[in-house]
Amino acid sequence: MKSILLLIIFSVCIYFTGSSQNVVIVIIDGARYTETFGDPDFTYIPYMAELAENGAYLNNMYNKHQTYTSHAIPALWTGGWGGSYNITYQGRETQATVNPTIFEYFRKQKNANPDDCFYILKYISNLWLQSFHSDYGPDYWPQTLSDGSTDNDVLANTLEVIDNHKPQLMYVYLAEVDKAGHSGDWQAYTSAIQNADEIVNTLWNTLQEDDFYKGNTTMIVTNDHGRHDYDFSGHGCSCNGCQHIMFLAMGPDIKNDYISHQEYELADVAVTAAYLLDVNPEYATGIVIEDIFKTSNVNEYKKVVDIIYFDNRIHFELDSPERVTLVVYDLLGREKEVLAQNELCEGVNSFSVSSIQQSGIYIARLQLGTSIITKKFFIK
Ligand SMILES: [Zn+2]
Ligand SMILES: [Zn+2]
Repeated sequence: MKSILLLIIFSVCIYFTGSSQNVVIVIIDGARYTETFGDPDFTYIPYMAELAENGAYLNNMYNKHQTYTSHAIPALWTGGWGGSYNITYQGRETQATVNPTIFEYFRKQKNANPDDCFYILKYISNLWLQSFHSDYGPDYWPQTLSDGSTDNDVLANTLEVIDNHKPQLMYVYLAEVDKAGHSGDWQAYTSAIQNADEIVNTLWNTLQEDDFYKGNTTMIVTNDHGRHDYDFSGHGCSCNGCQHIMFLAMGPDIKNDYISHQEYELADVAVTAAYLLDVNPEYATGIVIEDIFKTSNVNEYKKVVDIIYFDNRIHFELDSPERVTLVVYDLLGREKEVLAQNELCEGVNSFSVSSIQQSGIYIARLQLGTSIITKKFFIK
């Protein structure tokens, strides 16, 4: 009996099995959707429109929270809206994210080197920091290359990083569209979008000519926020122009020539990247942008494990060491017992519920990162 049940447990432990091993995320700061994929003629993004024929884009992607870069970038890093706090670090006043970032998850869970992850942007004196989370933190931060002043400088630096370091995870931040937008000069704003469009094209073609990246790399292009419907020189409110953003993805696991009409949110970007890299963004609240994948095992990924009850014990199997919370409730939702609230080893874990004396139906609720699995069981 036991061996049959354990076999069932093993069979549902499925992780991402696609071809992507590397992820590049390009953030074009403050391009409004009406000037990108919301324009039926793709006037300012001819290259990305062409790339989309071999990829997928979303026409219902939003920043539904705070349409400022200072809030949106942490959401793009962490996969949630846990936010940032002010901190003085090495004599500089800046901000750090509350929750771990995808770089930290990747480096810790994959035992990756610092130069397996890069964050590349123009020179900024008070760089925002990733988290000081007790389970992650500075030991797992990426390499940051903050240098130059223009988007073309950032492209040149990115090409050098690709040549010299071959990182598996890169965030490339392009600031000029937002800067030009704030100037109120329409010509400068749309030219900056056209330039970013060319940069995306150059980056993608470079990756396709590089044996390390060719055929196993997913590239995602998105924005942190849009711009007001009524005034392209500003942003920061909850109007559709500020909230509606672009999302384009290309890669071996991504559908071709596909437009998704499903609604997704900014925080989903990092969670989708984590899914591609097969890491668990345990404190993230976003979801995987499942609709863009050719074949998807997202449900299994989110499920991760099944819970089995027998011999007065609750059993489940972990594929890797995981921080879990396992609580038993009665049918009225009253907490009966906290069985685990710590990191557990990989393999089969089991917990006795013999302290629950009263017979009846109970619910075991297992939380692994953002996944919550519940199971009803009967105590005689
Ligand atoms: Zn701005
Ligand atoms: Zn607005």
